[in-house]
Amino acid sequence: MDPSRTRIVIVGAGQAGARAAEALRAAGHRGSISLLGEEQHPPYERPQLSKAMLTNASEEPRFIRNSQDWAAIDIKLSTSTPTVAVDVNRRAIGLSDGREISFDRLLLATGTRPRRLRDLENCGLRVCYLRCIDDALELRRNLAPGTKVVLVGGGVIGLEVASAAIARGCDVTVLEKADRLLPQVGSPALSGYLRRLHSDRGVAICCNATIMGVTAKGIELADGKTVPTDLVVVGVGVEPAADLARQAGLAVDQGIRVGPSGMTDIDGIYAAGDVAEQWSGWHGRWMRVENWANAQNQAIATARNMVGQDVSYEVPPWFWSDQFDANIQVIGHPGGADEIVRGDVERGRFTTISLRDGEVVGAVTVNSQKDMALLRRLAASRKRVNPSDIANPAFDLKQALTS
Ligand code: NAP
Repeated sequence: MDPSRTRIVIVGAGQAGARAAEALRAAGHRGSISLLGEEQHPPYERPQLSKAMLTNASEEPRFIRNSQDWAAIDIKLSTSTPTVAVDVNRRAIGLSDGREISFDRLLLATGTRPRRLRDLENCGLRVCYLRCIDDALELRRNLAPGTKVVLVGGGVIGLEVASAAIARGCDVTVLEKADRLLPQVGSPALSGYLRRLHSDRGVAICCNATIMGVTAKGIELADGKTVPTDLVVVGVGVEPAADLARQAGLAVDQGIRVGPSGMTDIDGIYAAGDVAEQWSGWHGRWMRVENWANAQNQAIATARNMVGQDVSYEVPPWFWSDQFDANIQVIGHPGGADEIVRGDVERGRFTTISLRDGEVVGAVTVNSQKDMALLRRLAASRKRVNPSDIANPAFDLKQALTS
């Protein structure tokens, strides 16, 4: 069959599903494209949820396109339409309303869902999670001045919500079970900086925090402290929404396993975005990457492969986070005791670089966007660099790229 005329169904109308749909049309696909999402909203990008939408009480959600603009590029968007089954033999998906849609090629872009803390939910506290627009609107309604907000998890959600909640006049505590903030990034310099950044703005930080229970006075910790609480926001990580793939018999480990083209172990069925687990030659292991850049770029590469192009996607993972007035960017896997620090941590403008055999395998920048632009290129190029050169803040990283 002419690949440009096949019927393509995309399950999951998040950023990855939406960008894949657009890329299919841009690649010249002329067959039908159905884009199916569970939420009532058209597709949107998530960074606004933990940033602008919380900080600014009147910020309206922004969508990738409005509903009518999807029809303009001949994409049939169906919102509020959960998919409940995938039949790989009959090449059809089943919807919650009993309908079926047949496909020639299928893309699963079902994303992730927040890990839940059921014990806290059952204690009579107001508990919020943050994954979708409706969550952000609910959380925003609750961020009134003076509200005692407890963030469980000192990861990206915990720290971005802490920053927004302080801006809204709340009284904020972060409970992190590890011994430092943002432990998953693994950079001692960044964790130390974040602790000061947040403490200086009035956030109470409790690391090594183990929640023992809830009393009328608040959340009780293992060290004997009680944290008064009006509102709990849980940001303790996510899990892949891979149930459909498992039921359909696709290979699933930490996510839906895909090859270099984005195809699963079943011909014609693909996965992309947060839910997909792909081999990373750069890291030498299978990886599921949860960030904005991957949701966009891996999905676009997969879409092109779905219509017969031959595109590979392999870049070091990159994300950014805005907290108070700090812009933090991370690539690869920074950290370790021997991270190289350039710049001034105390003044909040610095870069850390981690090397393996002279190659950049991870880096963090704080308010140093120019360094990050160069480090992303250096990491992707796998060029070897001289540690004493790059440790010198006067050394221009561009030289390492061009030498
Ligand atoms: P996260 O960044 O993985 O952070 C979760 C944190 O919670 C970790 O530090 C974890 O510590 C800690 N934790 C786990 N269980 C805990 C417990 N019982 N009590 C206290 N702390 C606990 O996950 P997230 O903040 O929930 O973010 C969820 C998703 O949203 C991720 O996919 C993330 O990439 C995405 N997101 C991204 C951005 C961005 O890129 N700027 C912003 C917001 C959200 P351990 O590591 O020690 O378990």
